[in-house]
Amino acid sequence: MNLTHPRFDPDRDNVIARAQASHVIHLIATACHAAGTQDGYALMQRFPGFISVTAGIHPHEASHAESGDWEIIREYSRKPGVVAIGECGLDYFRHFSDPKDQRVVFENQLLLAGESGKPLFLHERDAHTDFLAMLRACGKTRPKGVLHCFTGSQDELEHYLELGLWIGLTGWITDERRGNHLLALLHQIPLTRLLLETDAPYLLPRTLAPKPRNGRNEPAFLPHIGSLIARHLNMSPEELARIVCDNTLDFFGIDPIDQPSPSIFHAETPSP
Ligand SMILES: [Zn+2]
Repeated sequence: MNLTHPRFDPDRDNVIARAQASHVIHLIATACHAAGTQDGYALMQRFPGFISVTAGIHPHEASHAESGDWEIIREYSRKPGVVAIGECGLDYFRHFSDPKDQRVVFENQLLLAGESGKPLFLHERDAHTDFLAMLRACGKTRPKGVLHCFTGSQDELEHYLELGLWIGLTGWITDERRGNHLLALLHQIPLTRLLLETDAPYLLPRTLAPKPRNGRNEPAFLPHIGSLIARHLNMSPEELARIVCDNTLDFFGIDPIDQPSPSIFHAETPSP
């Protein structure tokens, strides 16, 4: 989730408290640029053991990155508590950055993940062919990665699974206008490679009731997404919670010691 997003500026501590009250056991605050990496790290230090962060440059920011930014990303990538490189990848849906710049910045982060030994937190939209080619080109040195907020087709899912990627699902799956195909693909994702996320403040689950008046998504709504997915997988929310919590801690190398027992998904969520 994007915990350093300005939409959380007015009440970030309350958002974190509501996540804890909703049995979310750990937050991973993803970064989009060098300043966001630094902000996330500072926030993590205020909530040791509950927040981890990433270091990286989002494809939207690729054309705006400066050489000094790379020094910051590289420096932070080595720090404890920085659990992934990203969010990184390619996005040809919105042209916020030149595709050529995106590919250079993504390539740098593929190398940095290899150097730092940290996994990739990956973003891909409307760029499947180039994205796949760049990951395949890494060959045996390809770091492990999670394709965050997967929204793609069956073919795309198969390609990602062949590459050994983990698959992150969000509240997109609750959107009857554009997410129903994901419900049909759920059974094809090995449970050992499934992660759940909110991508907050974006992607407020469409099926959440009541919805917050500000239309903002937040981590306290993760159990709502989990409950819906558990229902479609014919398992209890508790069982799915245990699996995805174990997957998450394992994937990101977060020490399970000091973590409370896995979250219990429940249908009702506190009002923000
Ligand atoms: Zn993304």
